[in-house]
Amino acid sequence: MQHSVSPVGIVRSCFKEKFAIPRQPQLAPAARGVLELLPPFDTGDAVAGLEQVSHVWLLFLFHQALEDKPRLKVRPPRLGGNKSMGVFATRATHRPNGIGQSVVRLQGVEPGRLLLSGIDLLDGTPVLDIKPYVPYADSVPEAVNGIASAAPAAIEVNWQASALEQAHANGLRLGEPLVALIEQCLAQDPRPAYQVPPAERVYGVRFWDVQVRWQYPTPESIRVIEVAPDR
Ligand code: SAM
Repeated sequence: MQHSVSPVGIVRSCFKEKFAIPRQPQLAPAARGVLELLPPFDTGDAVAGLEQVSHVWLLFLFHQALEDKPRLKVRPPRLGGNKSMGVFATRATHRPNGIGQSVVRLQGVEPGRLLLSGIDLLDGTPVLDIKPYVPYADSVPEAVNGIASAAPAAIEVNWQASALEQAHANGLRLGEPLVALIEQCLAQDPRPAYQVPPAERVYGVRFWDVQVRWQYPTPESIRVIEVAPDR
């Protein structure tokens, strides 16, 4: 049986590339975005009542990881990228039908737009459905996951003084909690598993319209060295 689906909206996100997006929602509360609803869902009718809800489930398409041939086994980054697992045992982006799901904080409801935070979604992500989070049914206190039992350990993030000033200035310009966003995302340590880079190697990623650059002075710590508007 084949069934076609079409997006109800598109996410405009702080994340402009896949690198350095947290592996799950809620890990970076400062990660904000707007879900722009598409017709006919953009009039306010489809979201009436949603202002009574603090969190929503987003079902979305991993639009930058779609593949023709389904994978049965994947190598989750969480396991270091060198151990394979059944695709259904993981939250890997490469999966049959390319469907992702995230619980995100609902900061505001406007006709045609939902204001979101704590997202793990790339800019341009097509959203297939939106459902209210139902605490009594969706939260399972006794749940066990032996593969991902807790949030990944955070790494120390330090700042070069000039970079911190740049981050504050750009955050003010954007009206966004940019310092917190950078700290929360880099604390997840986005470098590929087991990569021990030389101290002088510079990593970079774009959040909003700024390019963030950092180094690893030690394998266990990050130093942010530049936060500059993208040229
Ligand atoms: N919470 C979701 C889930 O469990 O289905 C996503 C988990 S997945 C491991 C999270 C990663 O998906 C992020 O780190 C980011 O790199 C990637 N990602 C986010 N949006 C994407 C998109 N539209 N296309 C491809 N990859 C995406």
